[in-house]
Amino acid sequence: MADDAVPDAYETLDSHAALVAWSRRYAHTQTETTDLAVDLSRVEWEVSTRAKRRAAAVKRPRIPDAAVGTPVDWSSHDATADPHPPTCTVSLTWEAAQSFDREEWAATLRHELVHVEQFQRFGTTNHGSRFKHRAETLDTPVKCRRFATPKFVLSCGDCEQVVARRYRDCKLVREHSQYQSSCCAAALRCQRVNSQ
Ligand SMILES: [Zn+2]
Ligand SMILES: [Zn+2]
Repeated sequence: MADDAVPDAYETLDSHAALVAWSRRYAHTQTETTDLAVDLSRVEWEVSTRAKRRAAAVKRPRIPDAAVGTPVDWSSHDATADPHPPTCTVSLTWEAAQSFDREEWAATLRHELVHVEQFQRFGTTNHGSRFKHRAETLDTPVKCRRFATPKFVLSCGDCEQVVARRYRDCKLVREHSQYQSSCCAAALRCQRVNSQ
């Protein structure tokens, strides 16, 4: 996963490609440092900009007769005898990533990775008791993350391009002047959005 184009700081991700790269790398680290059993070579990533309330989602093919708790033997599953699970896609909502801080986004990814783990093992996924158990182990909420209209807009102090949005007070909001924009290397400006 070594890639010079991958920025380290979640706070200043400013493109879809950067968000995917960061999220993939986080997922990779999770598979190395936890017991999460996910084959990332069978996972694709995309960014959605459609206004949705879900922070992320896993798109997957429907596997007939699949049930959580009943492992699928993929090698005997279809005529191609492909020993791997079918590809599924983790869809990341751009507005959510812009609203969440690093911790919230990481928790969102862990939640989706539990869905991927279930899909790859059982051919389907839900939020049942197995999911709850895994969510506890991996310290992520059971409910799919939702997001709200951001309260704070952070922009470049020079060119005023929007750099990030946040919906609650966080380190980036409090210490925004200590962060630099990637466009102009200028201190960030933070504006509170008046919610009606
Ligand atoms: Zn979910
Ligand atoms: Zn700028």
